Amino acid sequence: MAHLWQGVINEYRDRLPVTDSTPVVTMGEGGTPLIKAHALSELTGNHVWVKFEGMNPTGSFKDRGMTMAITRAKEEGAKAVVCASTGNTSASAAAYAKQAGMRCAVLVPEGKISMGKMAQAVAHGADIIQIDGNFDNCLEVARKLSDSYPVFLVNSVNPYRIQGQKTAAFEVVDALGDAPDYHILPVGNAGNITGYWKGYTEYASTFTNDAGTDLPAVATKTPVMWGFQAEGAAPLVAGHPIDQPETIATAIRIGNPASWDTAIAARDESDGLIESVTDEEIIEAQRFLSSRDGVFVEPGSAAGVAGLLKKFRAGAAPSEATIVITVTGHGLKDPQWAIKGAEAEDPTAAEPRRVDFDVVSVAAALGLE
Ligand SMILES: *Cc1c(COP(=O)(O)O)cnc(C)c1O
Repeated sequence: MAHLWQGVINEYRDRLPVTDSTPVVTMGEGGTPLIKAHALSELTGNHVWVKFEGMNPTGSFKDRGMTMAITRAKEEGAKAVVCASTGNTSASAAAYAKQAGMRCAVLVPEGKISMGKMAQAVAHGADIIQIDGNFDNCLEVARKLSDSYPVFLVNSVNPYRIQGQKTAAFEVVDALGDAPDYHILPVGNAGNITGYWKGYTEYASTFTNDAGTDLPAVATKTPVMWGFQAEGAAPLVAGHPIDQPETIATAIRIGNPASWDTAIAARDESDGLIESVTDEEIIEAQRFLSSRDGVFVEPGSAAGVAGLLKKFRAGAAPSEATIVITVTGHGLKDPQWAIKGAEAEDPTAAEPRRVDFDVVSVAAALGLE
C-alpha cells in the first residue's frame, strides 16, 4: 500500500514527547537513505553503510531536531525563534520557522559560513546577525537572548532537538534489523552523538514512554560509538575547551561543545572512542566517498569516514563488522572543497577538456577505441 513518509515525529510519535494535540511542524524529514558503501567496505574489509543525512529537506541532519524544536516552540505559542549556527542549524531553523509561520533570528560567527548555507538562511527570510566572535560566542548570546526576551532557543542545548535527532538511530535499526556493531560520526557541538546514543539505548531495552506505556525492545544490542573531531577543533580529545578552533570543516568548528558530558558518556558507555582527524584527511575522505562510492557530502560530514580510514591504516579498525557512518550534510552546501579535493589528485580535474564538435574527437578525448 502507498505510504508517504510522515516525518520523524509522526513516524516515531510513541517514543517522542508529543501528545495528540501537539501541532506537528514537519517537512517530511528523516527516512534518509542507508547506502551500502561498496568501495569503503572492500577497502576496510567490513560491511560499511552510510546514513546520508544530506537527503533531509534542508540538506542536513539538523532537520530531525528542528522539527521537534519548532513543534515545541509552536506548542508554547512562540512567535520567534533564535539559534547560533555554523550554518546548517540556521538553514534548518529558518526553513522550519517559516513552515510554522514564525520569525527566525540566526546568529552566525564572523566570516566562517559556507555560501550554500548562508544562501538558505537568506532564502528563507531569516534575520541574520553576524557576531564579532566564534560559534561558541554566538551560542552564549543566543542563550542569553532567549533568557531575557520573547524568543525561543532552538540550538541543541534545547532537549527537544536531541529527542528528534535520536530517531536516526531508530531508522538504522529498523533498516538493518538490529543495531550495527559500530556507529561512526563527526562530532562538533556533540548533539548528534548524544542523540544517536539515546536512540540506540532506548531501542535496546523496554522503553516506558511519556504516556506510561511500555514499548518492547527493538534491538538486541547497542553499537560501539566512534566520534571524530577536526584536529584544530578537538576539545573532547584534548580534554579542555579550545579558544580558537580552526578547521575547514566549518560544521564542526566548535571549541566548547554544549553536549560535552553526554558525548563522553556515549563514548564510555559504548566502549567507544572520540579522536581527531586532520583537514587533509577530511578532504581525502570526502573525495573517496564522492569519487568511489558516489555519495557527495560536505567536509565536516566526512570526518567519520576519515576516522575509519585512519583507524584502518593504523591497523586499529575491526574486520567483518557491520559499520554505519553518519554523513551529516550534503556536498552542495560547500562545494569549493570538493573541487580542491579533486584538484589535489589532478590539477586539471575541474577544467573540462575542449574538443571539436564531432564524435571521433570526443571518443579520442575519452580514450575510447
Ligand atoms: C551540526 C553538524 C555537525 C556536528 O554535529 P553536532 O551535533 O554539533 O556534533 C556535523 N556535520 C554537519 C554537516 C553538521 O551540520
